[in-house]
Amino acid sequence: SIAYLNGEYLPLEEARISPLDRGFLFGDGIYEVIPYYNGKSVGLVPHIERMIDGLASVEIKCKKSADEWKVLLDDLIARNEGATNNLGVYVHVSRGTDVKRFHAYPENVEPTIFCFTFAIKDPEPVDREKVHAYTVTTSEDLRWKRCHIKSTALLGNVMHFQQGHASGNSECLLYNANNELTEGSSVNAYIVKDGVVITPIQDNQILPGITRRIIIDSLVADGSIKVEERNVTMDEVYSADEVWISSSSKEIAPITQIDGKPVGNGKVGPVWEAAFRIYTDAKFTHS
Ligand code: PLP
Repeated sequence: SIAYLNGEYLPLEEARISPLDRGFLFGDGIYEVIPYYNGKSVGLVPHIERMIDGLASVEIKCKKSADEWKVLLDDLIARNEGATNNLGVYVHVSRGTDVKRFHAYPENVEPTIFCFTFAIKDPEPVDREKVHAYTVTTSEDLRWKRCHIKSTALLGNVMHFQQGHASGNSECLLYNANNELTEGSSVNAYIVKDGVVITPIQDNQILPGITRRIIIDSLVADGSIKVEERNVTMDEVYSADEVWISSSSKEIAPITQIDGKPVGNGKVGPVWEAAFRIYTDAKFTHS
């Protein structure tokens, strides 16, 4: 596939960066993943805004405006035959390459900008009998206290994801020291109780997911399903009727087992199906 690196388009396997790049040495960078289905993006503007905010919060001085990002990403999708494929675009901005390894932010370095595309799955069927359901394990959230920053330093997330993977599950749901749900290692999380969708509040303990935003906004706009943003205890998670996870690549995905025990009746629930339909109708028009 065709990648973008520091102003140039080139075959992905030819892209090269210095080992002194601070993204490589320190995980000193910000990233995004944005889905495009047959050339149509989901949440492109909020994804770009989140990245620009993240870069500002860690003082990486990237000069690209939101409009310039949009042109670059649409162009990269077009160069990878995105009009007739489902592609995710990975966008990575590191602080850049210094002349030595030194923790302090260097002055006068150009950020490294790297983007590439990869194939993503067709959206899941809306039918709850046919959709793929996920199983998860759980762990205390041992990441850092700045989970709202979409940092490329993902070892904490990777270790939690591996806990899920090694135990034969596809994710790991995380809880804080107060036994409250935060999110999953690469996804936001939701419970459904008595028809109400409940998701943890957006603070430093979770990534402000773009899919989460589209789900909440589209459910509120539709009005047929009530949504609450509040703290969720793990007892509520275990006794929920439904549990879901969301991300740009998984959209809204149902969880039918937590630590080997069934969620609700162990089947994908009706609120998932209704919410997924509402989300699917809204996803291309949300911005
Ligand atoms: N939470 C974490 C830790 C993530 O890494 C991600 C996505 O990669 C999400 C949540 C979901 O965010 P989004 O919906 O913007 O993809």
